[in-house]
Amino acid sequence: LLSPDGGVAASIFAQMSALAVRTGSINLGQGFPDEDGPAPVLEAARQAISDGVNQYPPGRGDPVLLAAIARHQSRFYGLTVDPSSEILVTAGATEALAATLLALVSPGDEVVTFEPFYDAYGGLIGLADGVHRTVLLHAPDFQPRPEDLRAAITDRTRLILVNNPHNPTGSVFNDATLALIVELATRHDALIVTDEVYEHLIFSGATHTPIAGLPGARERTITISSAGKTFNTTGWKIGWLTAPAELVTAIITVKQFLSYVNGAPFQPAIARGLDLPDEFYQDLATDLQAKRDLLAAGLTAAGFGVTLPQGSYFIVADVAPLGYADGVAFCQALPELAGVVAVPLSAFTSPANRHHFSSLVRFAYCKRSAVLEQAVAQLAGIR
Ligand code: PMP
Ligand code: GLN
Repeated sequence: LLSPDGGVAASIFAQMSALAVRTGSINLGQGFPDEDGPAPVLEAARQAISDGVNQYPPGRGDPVLLAAIARHQSRFYGLTVDPSSEILVTAGATEALAATLLALVSPGDEVVTFEPFYDAYGGLIGLADGVHRTVLLHAPDFQPRPEDLRAAITDRTRLILVNNPHNPTGSVFNDATLALIVELATRHDALIVTDEVYEHLIFSGATHTPIAGLPGARERTITISSAGKTFNTTGWKIGWLTAPAELVTAIITVKQFLSYVNGAPFQPAIARGLDLPDEFYQDLATDLQAKRDLLAAGLTAAGFGVTLPQGSYFIVADVAPLGYADGVAFCQALPELAGVVAVPLSAFTSPANRHHFSSLVRFAYCKRSAVLEQAVAQLAGIR
């Protein structure tokens, strides 16, 4: 059920991190930063623990965090969200996705995702007994084709699950694509779930457009984000969703039996982060863009075929120019070839469509520059 192949239980990310540890390789597989985020956020968590913020917080989330999420939506996107009824704090974006799908998908309902898709989507649609339909993203820019979207979204579609900026390809959907998704969702009365965990990890030339801000979208859209990506706190597992009040109520009925509530002292700390000045957010994207460029140049010089991502932690590289047809075999050999770990794109695909992506692999560049430089040096000799 949980793996597209019906097999192994460990996620591809856990497997690849274990491979990195076992072989002493540089881990550009699993997407997590290797340095701490902003000091005021870390300090706020320590302070909250000292202040005794250590018991169950309210079910929807600490009001301090709910208010900060509402301010963030207003500051960056001009969206007005009611903190008391339109927000739910969750155990990372993962629990937001899980509770949403379990609450809103009935057995046999169709859920449309884009392919390649973040691995949890396939597993969660399976847990909800939904039927998974996908729309292919095409290299090099990894946008969907309008005709494919029109064919996939029908009256059988309960929910369209969007991920923008996109993991694993780093693509950012253009405005025409987003508008078409809203148009089709409206025509077929489908809900839109939009996973925007990389909303602030977006590079020059691109901007983040939240789907909920598009005309007609708000009433049918559940927007999901996570503090992990923005504040380098992936291990804190604080995420959230915003949606119309009645959808939030439906999702809470499931969430109360999944985790009940989450990380009390981390919630005011993330509120502190969300209120950081604009410069913090600008520097975050600028720093990450420099890392993207460093790795992209290194991969290109080493002979990979590279598409420059517009956002996220990830870059997709084609190993075909290096003489490899199979990204899985390449990733298995890479620790020995170069002391580096990457993830094959096939981990984000269904068996039927795997062949479209077989020579592609994903590298994460959310690592210290020195680590990326070392990785680039080791990859240079690969040909
Ligand atoms: N969605 C996407 C697209 C992701 O890449 C990730 C993981 N990094 C998640 C959701 C899960 O986020 P969290 O760790 O907050 O559960
Ligand atoms: N989202 C991260 C990635 O894509 C990993 C999260 C996880 O390990 N589940 O690499």
